Amino acid sequence: MGDMKYVAGVDIGNATTEVAIAKIDGKDIEFIASGIGPTTGIKGTLQNISGVFMSLRNALDKVGMDYSDLQEIRINEAAPVIGDVAMETISQTVITESTVIGHNPSTPGGNGVGVGTSVLVTELSKITEEKDVIVVVPSSVSFAQAALMMNGAKKNVHITGAIVQEDDGVLLNNRLDRKIPIIDEVLQIEKVPLGMTCAIEVAPQGTVLDTLSNPYGIATVFDLDSEETKRVVPIARSLIGSRSGVVIKTPTGDVQARSIKAGTINVVGPKKEVDVDVDEGADKIMEAIATIQDIQDIQGETGTNVGNMLDKVRRTMAGLTEKSPDKIKIQDILAVDTFNPQKVIGGIADEFALENAVGIAAMVKSDRLQMEKIARVLTEKLNVPVYVGGVEADMAIKGALTTPGTSVPLAIVDMGAGSTDASIINREGKVKLIHLAGAGNMVSVLIQSELGLDSFDRAEDIKKYSLAKVESLFHIRHEDGTVQFFDKPLDPYIFAKVVLVKENDELVPLDGVESLEKVKQIRINAKKKVFVTNAVRALSKVSPTGNPHDIQFVVMVGGSALDFEIPNFVTDALSQYDIVAGRGNIRGCEGPRNAVATGLAMACLEEE
Ligand code: ADP
Ligand code: MG
Repeated sequence: MGDMKYVAGVDIGNATTEVAIAKIDGKDIEFIASGIGPTTGIKGTLQNISGVFMSLRNALDKVGMDYSDLQEIRINEAAPVIGDVAMETISQTVITESTVIGHNPSTPGGNGVGVGTSVLVTELSKITEEKDVIVVVPSSVSFAQAALMMNGAKKNVHITGAIVQEDDGVLLNNRLDRKIPIIDEVLQIEKVPLGMTCAIEVAPQGTVLDTLSNPYGIATVFDLDSEETKRVVPIARSLIGSRSGVVIKTPTGDVQARSIKAGTINVVGPKKEVDVDVDEGADKIMEAIATIQDIQDIQGETGTNVGNMLDKVRRTMAGLTEKSPDKIKIQDILAVDTFNPQKVIGGIADEFALENAVGIAAMVKSDRLQMEKIARVLTEKLNVPVYVGGVEADMAIKGALTTPGTSVPLAIVDMGAGSTDASIINREGKVKLIHLAGAGNMVSVLIQSELGLDSFDRAEDIKKYSLAKVESLFHIRHEDGTVQFFDKPLDPYIFAKVVLVKENDELVPLDGVESLEKVKQIRINAKKKVFVTNAVRALSKVSPTGNPHDIQFVVMVGGSALDFEIPNFVTDALSQYDIVAGRGNIRGCEGPRNAVATGLAMACLEEE
């Protein structure tokens, strides 16, 4: 009885601080409570302390204990921290003369394709020859006046469409004797060149352009040869997904997809270095990273975007740890190809184009000294001895092995917010581990940028919850096609919207989202790009031979293993290597959470 004691393992993660409290009696360990709370401040800094207090409190309250009832606390060591996740846009759509307008006015008029010469509405009466025209209506002419002029046009003038500056395309169309496609809300209408051949297209409600977003569609409309067709590809591309668009054939006008120089990344190993250009894309960057086994530092070209981003990571960490920036080493990055909506340069209706981009997550390793500092302050404040108790991935595997049905040899993948960590334990109990940049936060950042969302929290929700379409006030269709009925009518506000299905049938509308399918694809791809890539990368690094094939069993732990899709994607991908992979269930009751905290508490027993 004399050596009975209460211990706590505390895992300070990038997102979450988890606690496991155990009673140790001789050689027996019994877990009595778990706690969880958000990490305060950047992981590995003194700001973490209040989060540790809260998570400990959360666990202790469950069993009516106080801090002073604990005889020992262990925190995780040398944990990797996420420096930053950033986007580098590497392509740019530039219009050198007004040749294209593709945008989504809220209420365009009519639908279909119209082709003709651009003519000011006030000039219509002057046309004498037989002519197809697209009418241009500046805000100085009211829709009522414009309708009068258009209805009064002579027989030789065939009006096939209109481009309007104000937001009154529907009103205008209502007054026309013959309905035409109308694009409105073209703010800088004075930039539309007159006397040029132009084509406009308005897609029926609920659909997107199909002629002008297709290079051959543009070629058909303008009668282009194959060389010219090649040159309109960027135009077609910038119109994909728009509800309405205008393409104007000017003698010199041009749309170019330029590539932006985003800078070079320099990966430094003990014996060699490699350079890679960011604008070559994510695959090339990851190939370069893979050629260096033991990365000592990663630098970005000075004066470029990627240089600034990696510098910012270094400076932030330096400031927080009171070190000089050149002492901070970036140990890994994960680069992912993505796209983000950007304003088209030279556009005339605030057009956006989906530009290519590279998302980069960077990781810095905080050192043991820093964690010792946290332990010292905690010891003082709690009056309980606090020790730095072992490397995270090492502790995670100890904890993961409490999953029923597991035994050594075993590998784990810990999928958190900032980093994906892996470790492997062989029959002799030897552990090998690795920490890699990129995890749950990066998935949300990709979703946020690809959907052009204002808030990160909204992206987190899109990651975590499945989608549905509200088809009537009494039923929704879930993304898997199944239908759910409701007894009471739903809020009319969400009618016909794409919604997130949260707990207890709470339906959150995604405003401005056109298609459920698009959101779903972006969500799925973001998860695969980050976690399938990192699981394979991590397991290759810890495998005794460098080949994931030599691993048989993998347990997934960490908050991202709670995801409704991520573990399936990883299981699927790893089955190609004949690996059996599944979600952990720590101590048979915690699910994939609490592995590191559990391992830390268990480490107290072993040193008895
Ligand atoms: P860390 O160890 O870095 O603190 P955690 O293991 O706490 O990280 O995992 C946090 C990550 O897990 C976040 O990216 C968060 O979005 C994600 N996450 C938490 N709960 C869920 C869930 N139910 N579904 C999907 N992801 C989740
Ligand atoms: Mg963690």
